[in-house]
Amino acid sequence: MTYSKITVPTSGERITVREGKLNVPDTPILLWIEGDGIGPDIMTASKRIWDAAVQKAYGGQRKIAWMEIYAGEKAANLYGGDYFPAESLAAIREFTVGIKGPLTTPVGGGFRSLNVALRQDLDLYACIRPVKWYPGVPSPLRHPELVDVVIYRENTEDVYAGVEYKAGTPEATKVEKFLREEMGAKFWPNSGIGIKPISAFGSKRLIRKAFQFALEKGRKSVTFMHKGNIQKFTEGAFMQWGYEVAKQEFGDVTITEQQLWDEFGGKQPAGKLLIKDRIADIMFQQMLLRPTEFDVIAAPNLNGDYLSDAVAAEVGGVGIAPGANIGDALAVFEATHGTAPKYANQDKVNPGSVLLSGVMMLDYIGWREAARAVEAAFTRTIADKIVTYDFARQMEGAREVKTSEFASAVIERL
Ligand code: NAP
Repeated sequence: MTYSKITVPTSGERITVREGKLNVPDTPILLWIEGDGIGPDIMTASKRIWDAAVQKAYGGQRKIAWMEIYAGEKAANLYGGDYFPAESLAAIREFTVGIKGPLTTPVGGGFRSLNVALRQDLDLYACIRPVKWYPGVPSPLRHPELVDVVIYRENTEDVYAGVEYKAGTPEATKVEKFLREEMGAKFWPNSGIGIKPISAFGSKRLIRKAFQFALEKGRKSVTFMHKGNIQKFTEGAFMQWGYEVAKQEFGDVTITEQQLWDEFGGKQPAGKLLIKDRIADIMFQQMLLRPTEFDVIAAPNLNGDYLSDAVAAEVGGVGIAPGANIGDALAVFEATHGTAPKYANQDKVNPGSVLLSGVMMLDYIGWREAARAVEAAFTRTIADKIVTYDFARQMEGAREVKTSEFASAVIERL
């Protein structure tokens, strides 16, 4: 494919996919989107660190060939007002793996969220957010080291499907009339209306991915987070479809909590993954008070969104929480915070979120040595109390540094 504004690096090779498995050359072309606001600061810093880690881990035998693609304000400037150019999507389809900085989304109008568009148009159906504590990171918990969960959030349906009608519009009035007159529904007149579709297909493929991850990594349990006591046919169904996948596809390696007590006296047998479910509201309390009860969590879109940020706050906040959006093979890794416009171009904020998303990306392409090197150097830098403003204000005796200085400190510790 030829691109109008994107330059394909001549030094790299394309990652290919066969039967769902990635084939990664030694000089893979990886995509990057700079992002708006603080995006340029954190991406520049992080790319320096990833490149240095790859160099260190493989002595020059492997190297990332970066290819910039555009979305957000930078795209609008380049493509005559188009915030989400079709060729950026085409590039992700062609080159498979990339990482992005945060993108601006106006609230209550304007264009569709670029992040949501990216996930839906590329069918990146699993939003994966690992949350664990790194020693030295300020936390409101007494035992943040007990938090170690990986959240699998469904990314394409639920109230994010975009089926929503503004109160008083002909569309809302039509839906309201149908619901009231033909379905016997009761609600206040002149309401805004949102539809929450949750499908067996969408739920099962997300939950299947969570199971595969949990089994591959030797995790102990997968918990379905749902509000099925109230929303029976959407969130309740999500949970039921989850148990169906467990029984039908992973029956020999999973047990339910009922089986745990009835057949194993409450002691989890080796080699079996425990499948649990919890109602969404109590999850927030239990995650805070008894974090060790959770390991991998599978959740519908909105629940997963709330929970990921809440759990991230327990171990250092969104400034360092990493994330990935993954489909059957395509993957876009991303900073989970927004563009923090008040800090744009000040070389001030924490690059941790996008940096650790890059660690997930290195793991995804199988470059584990480089991934571990970044993680270890990041941990050592924080243990040495060299931190950006957000941590410095919560740590005694810390040395506050700029984003770029933090990157240099991490590179020195690789
Ligand atoms: P935000 O950009 O995440 O910023 C909220 C606050 O979080 C900041 O003021 C700052 O806190 C802290 N923060 C964020 N990133 C940080 C970092 N790297 N290091 C240290 N602290 C950091 O949220 P927002 O202000 O609600 O949203 C701004 C824009 O971003 C909106 O247009 C929104 O739609 C968009 N957004 C994009 C994404 C995405 O691209 N994935 C996600 C969320 C929001 P303090 O003020 O306490 O220092």
